[in-house]
Order: sequence, then C-alpha cells, then structure tokens
Amino acid sequence: MDLFSDAGEEKGASDLANDTDRAQQLHQLLHRYAHAYYTLDAPEVPDAEYDRLFRELQALEQKHPSLQTPQSPTQRVGGAVLPEFQTVRHQLPMLSIRTETDNESSGASAFDARVRRELSLSDTAPAIEYVAELKFDGLAMSLRYEKGVLVQAATRGDGESGEDVTHNIRTIGQIPLQISAGASSLPDVLEVRGEVYMRRDDLDALNERQLNKIAEGAKGEKTFVNPRNAAAGAVRQLDSNIAAQRPLSFFAYGLGEVLGWPQQSAPFQTHFDLLQTLKGWGFPVASQTQCVNGAEGLIAFHERIATERDALPYDIDGVVYKVNDLALQDKLGFVTREPRWAVAHKFPAQEELTTVQAIDVQVGRTGKLTPVAKLAPVFVGGVTVTNATLHNEDEARRKDVRVGDTVIVRRAGDVIPEVVGVVMDKRLSGAEIFTMPRICPVCGSAALRDEGEADYRCSGGLFCSAQRKQAFLHFAQRRAVEVDGLGEKLIDQLVDSGVVSTLPDLYKLGLTALVQLDRMAEKSAINILNALEASKKTTLPRFIYGLGIRHVGEATAKEFARHFGTLDAFMNATEEELLQVSDVGPVVAQSVRTFFEQAHHQEIVEQLRACGVTWQEGPPAERAPQPLTGKTVVLTGTLPNLGREEAKAMLEAAGAKVAGSVSQKTSYVVAGSEAGSKLDKALALGVPVLDEAGLLFLLNSAP
Ligand code: NAD
Repeated sequence: MDLFSDAGEEKGASDLANDTDRAQQLHQLLHRYAHAYYTLDAPEVPDAEYDRLFRELQALEQKHPSLQTPQSPTQRVGGAVLPEFQTVRHQLPMLSIRTETDNESSGASAFDARVRRELSLSDTAPAIEYVAELKFDGLAMSLRYEKGVLVQAATRGDGESGEDVTHNIRTIGQIPLQISAGASSLPDVLEVRGEVYMRRDDLDALNERQLNKIAEGAKGEKTFVNPRNAAAGAVRQLDSNIAAQRPLSFFAYGLGEVLGWPQQSAPFQTHFDLLQTLKGWGFPVASQTQCVNGAEGLIAFHERIATERDALPYDIDGVVYKVNDLALQDKLGFVTREPRWAVAHKFPAQEELTTVQAIDVQVGRTGKLTPVAKLAPVFVGGVTVTNATLHNEDEARRKDVRVGDTVIVRRAGDVIPEVVGVVMDKRLSGAEIFTMPRICPVCGSAALRDEGEADYRCSGGLFCSAQRKQAFLHFAQRRAVEVDGLGEKLIDQLVDSGVVSTLPDLYKLGLTALVQLDRMAEKSAINILNALEASKKTTLPRFIYGLGIRHVGEATAKEFARHFGTLDAFMNATEEELLQVSDVGPVVAQSVRTFFEQAHHQEIVEQLRACGVTWQEGPPAERAPQPLTGKTVVLTGTLPNLGREEAKAMLEAAGAKVAGSVSQKTSYVVAGSEAGSKLDKALALGVPVLDEAGLLFLLNSAP
C-alpha cells in the first residue's frame, strides 16, 4: 500500500477545494471593485490593492487551469456600459495591456525576452525597436472620424462595446472636430484612440470650485479623489454643460478601425510614424514618446521618466512599451484581453491601503492644533509612511476618518502624505466620530477657533511646552538664526527638564547643564556651545524670521529688515507704517503689532541682545525699482528649459505676482508644451501668451 500517494492525493484535493473557494472570493471582490471603478467612477480601494488581488487570482488560475472560466476578471476588460448611454459596438475591440512587474530582473527585460521568443529570434539577432510612451492615468477613448469629421466618441466599456459620449468629448478643446489635413490624405473612416485625462492643476481648481459649491449648500456636489476619477466622471456626464466646466485634455496613442486609405495603404509602417502622422493632423502626442532599442533602451526610458514623473503636469502610473514595426505587431497578434506587442511597466503605487491606529492632535509653533492620523506603516510613493495630516477639524469631518478605519493613503512626489478616503465597508462597528479637543492636549489651556478660521489654536502661548519647543526649533533652523545640532530630541529634553523655557535661556546654557542630559557626551556638549556662540552673529532678516511671529515668513522678514533698517524701527512701527511695506497686508501688520505688544516678547528680544546676539543695522534701504511690479503672470505647461519653480522665482524677483488662474486681470500667460485649459482661457480672454523665449525677453527687456 502506498500511504504517501494517498496522502498526496488527499492534500491535492483539499488544496483545490481551498483554492476554488479563494478564487470565488476573489471573483466577487474583483467584480465589485471593477464595477465601482469602471462603471461608477468611484473606486473603493487603491489600484495597488486591486492589482494584488488580480495577481493572486492569476496565480491560482495558473496553478489550476480549470479555475480559469470565461467569466473570470482575468479574462475580461473594463466595466459595463451604463444604460443611460447609447451603446457603441467597437469594430476593433479596445483591449487592456498586460502589466509587467519587476521581479529579479526589470519588467522591461521580461517583455523584450518574450517578444524575441515569440518571434523566434536568435540571441545574435539585432535588438528590437520599440516605442516607449507614457502611461497616462485617465480613460481610454475611441474617436471616430468620417471623411475627417468627428462623428462619434466612445468609451472602452467592456472592450467590445462602449458608451457614446460624443456630446461631452466635443467640449474638449484639444480634440479636433475636423482633422486639419486635406481630405485626399485621409482615410474614409479613421478611429483615433487615446486617453482623456485631467491635469493636476485643473483638478485642484475644479475641487476648489466644488468645495465652494458645497459650502454654499449645493446638493449632490462632491470633490474628486484623483484626476482619473474626475476625468471619468466628467466624460460620463449626461449634461455636456457640466462636462464643459470640467477641464479635460487628450493624448492620442493609436488607431482603431481604419477604412479606405486614399493610396490603398497607410502612409506609415511603424507605430512611431503613425504617432507623428496623428500629431501632424492636430492630435496631441506626448513629447516624451521615444524610439528605443532593446531592453536596455526600455530600461533607460523607464528610469528617466521615473525621475521626471512628479514634474509632469498630469498623473501617469507607468510607461508603455510597444513594438515599433506594425508588421511585427501583426505577427505577434493578441491574447484574450491584451496585445502581445505592448506592455505597461508601472511605477511604485502612489496610493495604498492601511489602517488608522490613532488620531493624535499636534500643537504647532503658533498654537495651531492639527489632527494627524497615525497609520500602520505602509510603503507608498517610494517611502514608508506612518503619519498623514488631517489638516483641521472640518477636513477630518469631511473625510470622516475614525480610529480603526482602513484608509487610502496617497503620497505623490514630495507632497505630504494624505488620507484620500475611507474604505467604508471595512469600518469596525462602534468606531467613534473624531472630534477636536476643546483644550490643548499638551498644556490644558483652552483651544479656541476664531470665527472664519479653520483651525483651533491653543491659547497657552509660550506657557504651552509644545509651542515653546516649536519656537526653539524655528529659531534654531538653518534659515533662521541657525544653531547647528540643536534638533528636536535635544530641545525636547531641554524643555521637558525645565533647563530652558525662553529663547535667551539657550545662551545661558553651560557645559554642566548639557552633560547632565541623556546621551550627551562632553564633546557633543562643547559642539552645541560652539554652535550657540557662532549663532550670535546673525543678520536682521534671520533674527526677525527666527522670532516666529505668526504670518511672518522668510520673505516678509526680509522685506521688514530692508524697509526699516533697524530692529527698533521695526518693533516700534505702527500698523500704518507696517502697511507701507510691500506685500504686507492688514493680517500681517496686526500680527506684528500683537506680538510686540506683549511685554514678554519685548523682554525676550532685549535679553537676546544682552546675551550678545548681534546683526548689522543700517538706514532703511530704498527699494530698487522692480520692472514687473503690478504685473500678474500665470505659468502653464512644461517649459523647454526652465523649471516651474525657477520661472516663478525669476518673475517674483522682477516684482511680478505669479497667479494660479487666468482672469481679465492677468497680464501674461507663459505657456509651455502640454498647456491646458489656462492657455485656452488666455486665448479666449485675449491675454498675451508668451513662450519661454518670450518670458526671457520680457525679463531682460523690462525697464
Ligand atoms: P490599464 O489601465 O492598466 O491599461 C490599459 C489602459 O491604459 C488602456 O485602456 C488605456 O486607457 C491606458 N493607456 C494609457 N496610456 C497609454 C498608452 N500610451 N498606450 C496605450 N494605452 C494607454 O488596464 P485596465 O485593464 O484598463 O485596468 C487595469 C487598471 O485599472 C489597473 O491599474 C487597476 O489597478 C485599475 N483598476 C482599479 C480598480 C480599483 O478598484 N482601484 C478596479 C479596477 C481596475
């Protein structure tokens, strides 16, 4: 009797039973999430979570091929067609693209190896030519032109049939209603496929408008968690007036059905030439699109775009590789839901799921109370995130984040991580609504919220140790008075042990007091004392900034120092005199007055001077005339050489104000490539539009 084989069979059977159960669970979950994402435009979980479950199902189906039914989410594309829309049957299906992941080697190498294998190429055969493109995070669109005129626009739907959204697509300025080419060069029927997307600045402006509507009591309005959902929601509107108010953009990346080329055949043999032709016909094609050779070329492209991703004005979630030669594409053909000649190679997810372990309330330098969600550590946007700010009570309420919730956390670029939403059906029963404490969690003083303000503030002032600690940190930072080595941990100890309570106490510190602190060796203590000594020689702008007066940032401190010349003149200035300083309004002026009217602040300044903190003073400086004073400039799109921040700094240095939206009052719009709705608005309002060369000319030639 073969005991082992029986045991093995039994185990195999129970494995299959377990895996079948799990596969069924995954079917249900994935169907539900796909419905929320594709059909309702309201995802319940981040893409990374969906992709994980999808891969788990793929692995199970690979292990037991019998589990791979035609109904499986791995065999289907997209979502259902909403009944409100007319159905459009795609003559050529709109497919998905396989996602290549980085395992031991790059996903790009895996794709290249597969293509070579499928084409039966030997190791010595030359490298394959690919087109590398950006993977735009929007929604796929098929635009049908007959004799060069746009007759229909359809979503992907389930790949076979989509929704007729022509009425909304006509409102997108970047999509030609009539192709700008002689009819003699156009086929009778041409389907251009591409992605409709929303730029990030357009999303921000839209969300701001939505918030205003909500604040004014409008019903049924909402804000959008990301540009993809906003774009999908706008495209799938029944009312094209609403769609027209939601600024959308478009990139072309391929063709669908094409019938009747004038010369019997297409005027291009490669994908790259096809894109160039589309560009010539007036369709936007991303400037990053590039022809590269072999896996090496793909990897270099992936690496380059990873570094440029955050600076793009729109979201991408990866790059797409396509075999360039159209004849080779034909030869490679398709599998169920994807072509064999293209893959997506994604970047690390910028949204992830995690749980809220606590909601802490932190006290800032000016007493502002900030609710912060303490998260189970999660790797997102390339870093491990454990905290996400909830900004203030209104924001925390709007998102209704509660302790124990499973939440979607987003971290894009170097932006502070934020909670974008709660996965409601994972909420634990009895989870309590978050309320802001009415007393400061650090010092117990009353926490007050002024009318019209979003924030609660601790009324304890420097009595509150949290505010004291922040005041020390602010004073000691590099951009202020700069005390090298005086960091958070040391300040915590100094304040908590009562060794220092006001700024001048820092300069009274001696070696004995310092070496008594935890883990403070004599050498480190001497370094701190030396740093304190060195910090005594400072400048007036740094000193003013270091005092931590509410609303007085670095630039304003510089303006005050320049305008008044001496600290005494600044301290004694009346509100009217403060208002004379450029860019200073009533809020800042009043804040300065309130600060110096408190006797203990004046005393702190006197004591710091007595401790030997000095700076050079001089007569009030005459402001050099600034050539662009009074001009308002809006930047949009990507400039060829200048970064956005660089251009902004140059304009501000010349006295211009750089604004975020275009209006009648805008003096100039500086537009780079892929400029969106701001450029359209400038043209509509007749605001002068400059390119980079024009901007440099303006900066150099202004009187
Ligand atoms: P996909 O979005 O990963 O890839 C196919 C799509 O890429 C095309 O339809 C096209 O719209 C787009 N695309 C962008 N740039 C392109 C380019 N240069 N060339 C060609 N196509 C380009 O695949 P999919 O099957 O549409 O959907 C899967 C994606 O949707 C996954 O990222 C998944 O995470 C997400 N999703 C998320 C949820 C959720 O609940 N969060 C649910 C379902 C799907």
